[in-house]
Amino acid sequence: MEILTTALQMLNKYPLCDHCLGRQFALLGHSMENRDRGRTIKLLLTLEGHLLTYSIDEEGFSLLKAVAANGSFEKARDVLRHFNKRTRVKKRCFLCEGAFERIPSTVVNAVRKLGRYEFTTLLVGVKLPLEVAEREDEFKARFNVTHGESMKSQFSRDVGKQLCQTIKKEVDYSKPDVVVLVNPFADQVRLQINPIHVGGRYKKLIRGIPQSKWRCRRCDGKGCEVCSWTGKTYQDSVEELVGLPLLKMVQGEGMAFHGAGREDVDARMLGSGRPFVLEIKQPKKRYIELRELEQIINKQADGKIEVLDLHIANKEVVRRLKRAELTEKTYRTIVEFGRDVSDKELENIEEILSEAIIRQRTPRRVLHRRSDLTREKYIYKANTKRMSHNRVEMQIRCQGGLYIKELITGDEGRTNPSVASILEVKATPLQLDVLKVGET
Ligand SMILES: [Zn+2]
Ligand SMILES: [Zn+2]
Repeated sequence: MEILTTALQMLNKYPLCDHCLGRQFALLGHSMENRDRGRTIKLLLTLEGHLLTYSIDEEGFSLLKAVAANGSFEKARDVLRHFNKRTRVKKRCFLCEGAFERIPSTVVNAVRKLGRYEFTTLLVGVKLPLEVAEREDEFKARFNVTHGESMKSQFSRDVGKQLCQTIKKEVDYSKPDVVVLVNPFADQVRLQINPIHVGGRYKKLIRGIPQSKWRCRRCDGKGCEVCSWTGKTYQDSVEELVGLPLLKMVQGEGMAFHGAGREDVDARMLGSGRPFVLEIKQPKKRYIELRELEQIINKQADGKIEVLDLHIANKEVVRRLKRAELTEKTYRTIVEFGRDVSDKELENIEEILSEAIIRQRTPRRVLHRRSDLTREKYIYKANTKRMSHNRVEMQIRCQGGLYIKELITGDEGRTNPSVASILEVKATPLQLDVLKVGET
């Protein structure tokens, strides 16, 4: 009986609780708990010990004593008591130091902390002190344990099981709402509340609103005379107009706004809107009425912006958005020329800029945040519509990443060809609107 022989060697040497003894044989048998494995082995050893007392009684008693003392096994103590043998007091488990017995109190602790949050799924993560993990490794090597399981994996499972039974929630290994981080040796429970993501599209109906909050450069957000003590360069931002109502609704700790690209502060975002995902960190609530949220945002934004098609999103959608930044865009701009332009010249612009590759060196105005490179961007179609003798409305459908203002002005030769260079005239974009982002 190899299992019993090995188990007895272990118990002769170290005090082991039912969980820790059973765990050394965890891969044997199915659908049972390590505690039951450990108990069964200790019970069989007790029977063996009792049997031995009838032949070689010293060996039988020493076996029973090992199981009673190092195994803290009541049934072995009962047999010894029957023979009027004294047994030693209960010892602390060499491997877990009694941590498995403390799981119920860990669970109570976790339940109390979780009570502040709304969530559906959870995952338990366990962190063990280094010396505990090392001690178990040495133990396994010494007894040549080949069908065991790690303490960490048993802890995570046991805590998870008891916790889920108590609060009636489910474990999710890939995308849990909450991760319960447990250090059973320090009796520590920490919660990692995963963010919620709400996706949608926004329209920016007026100019002068940046997509994300701009901190005042003078005071770095602390508040000064320049920013009228708001800490901000612009009073509003799409991020705040969209995000603050949700942040308040779910009582989150912070937010991040991810847009599929961004328009300039002075450009509107019209048409079907620009896709975005709003991420709220450490939300206390997770069950949101999206229709209600949409109404609140749009009402509070008071015609500055508008959101549509709100839906629950996730991290993967954010990754897709970042890639979508480079998809097709359609712009409308009003261009003013330094002199009158003829119909022939407008036709010329349409012809040269449609199905054309534009070589664009990073515009001077964004050099402070982007490296100085020359990029090639494609224009699918450029249309013009005369408004007056020197004013034209242009619509441009192009690859994402093309800077439209510079396509008009030429940016002192850094963008080529440009509207200005084609006609050899000063061209100024008066207004810029984004009409469409992507195919939707
Ligand atoms: Zn133990
Ligand atoms: Zn300031």
